[in-house]
Amino acid sequence: MSQFAFELSHRDATTSARRGVFLTPHGPVQTPGFMPVGTQGTVKGVTIDQVAATGAHMILGNTYHLALRPGHETVRKLGGLHGMSGWEGPILTDSGGFQIFSLNAINNVTEEAATFRSHIDGAKVRLTPEHSIEIQEALGSDVAMVLDHVVALPAEPGVVEDAMARSIRWAKRCLEAASRDDQAKFAIVQGGLDTELRVQCATELSSMGFDGYAVGGLSVGEAPSEMYRITAATCPALPEDKPRYLMGVGQPIDLIESVARGIDLFDCVMPTRNGRNGLAFTDLGKVKLRNAVHREDTQPLEQDCPCLACRHSRGYLRHLFIAGEMLGPILVSIHNLTYYQRVMQGARDAIEQNRFDAYREEKKRGWGLV
Ligand SMILES: [Zn+2]
Repeated sequence: MSQFAFELSHRDATTSARRGVFLTPHGPVQTPGFMPVGTQGTVKGVTIDQVAATGAHMILGNTYHLALRPGHETVRKLGGLHGMSGWEGPILTDSGGFQIFSLNAINNVTEEAATFRSHIDGAKVRLTPEHSIEIQEALGSDVAMVLDHVVALPAEPGVVEDAMARSIRWAKRCLEAASRDDQAKFAIVQGGLDTELRVQCATELSSMGFDGYAVGGLSVGEAPSEMYRITAATCPALPEDKPRYLMGVGQPIDLIESVARGIDLFDCVMPTRNGRNGLAFTDLGKVKLRNAVHREDTQPLEQDCPCLACRHSRGYLRHLFIAGEMLGPILVSIHNLTYYQRVMQGARDAIEQNRFDAYREEKKRGWGLV
């Protein structure tokens, strides 16, 4: 019997938003949900207890980075990602496909493998779908992603179609290579900005019986409206009873618009990366803490936020950044992660109350987007 299940408890009355829970061996993940990114086996600058306190259920680890350093066999000997990091909740690992693409390390892609150069020492590394699964099994994540072929957009139609077809064949190879039944396998829909290719890819992958389905290859520079269009076209072609994950997205508005189109899970470096740079997300839009206007600002980032950063004034947080103190990036990362979780908690509540559309409008007004 599968150790994974996805239970849908409610559908919003006027949008395609869904409320559910994804059950894993390391606990439940409430959906719609946001996963903080722990690229190197750590959510940058934030301890596991602090990550848990933000309200996060599941975190993400990066196969590419961990396979290169410290090496997946080392992670295995340290107790897998759970044992090594001490995080006791669910973990999802990506397959390495997107990192190879985004770090521009790609050397070439053949039917057999992707060959790339390590960003650490320039060594040539060869990654096959089977190897990606082997690495993720050593990491011991609750969810493994299939290796996919990501291409830069815009691209010639033939290039996108070729990569999509290869992604389907590689997904099948991943499924056949997998040996752990305590690890869910998620497929990744590719197909660029072509809705027909996306639907074709989603339909073929759906027939292969994965535990969940991701929409990949987006948030790579296309307009948000293009991303929403592709998400809206892809979701109906995916199984109703499996979680849907939009990879690498995004701004709070992107999360809300994508939930409205039927997405259940997200991950993004945005809360932590921006937090390290002194940019905070709030219900009234983004706050640039380095700005002089905050020098003597006695207000917290948000009045009703329970996070560690919001015990302090904006003036203090600004001072930490200007003085180059490490506590500044840590606190604002915590605030941003808490903010993303609060937005998602609000989304879950709104879906249960059939008022997701009103919630979306309320958030957009606050963010100055209407
Ligand atoms: Zn806060």
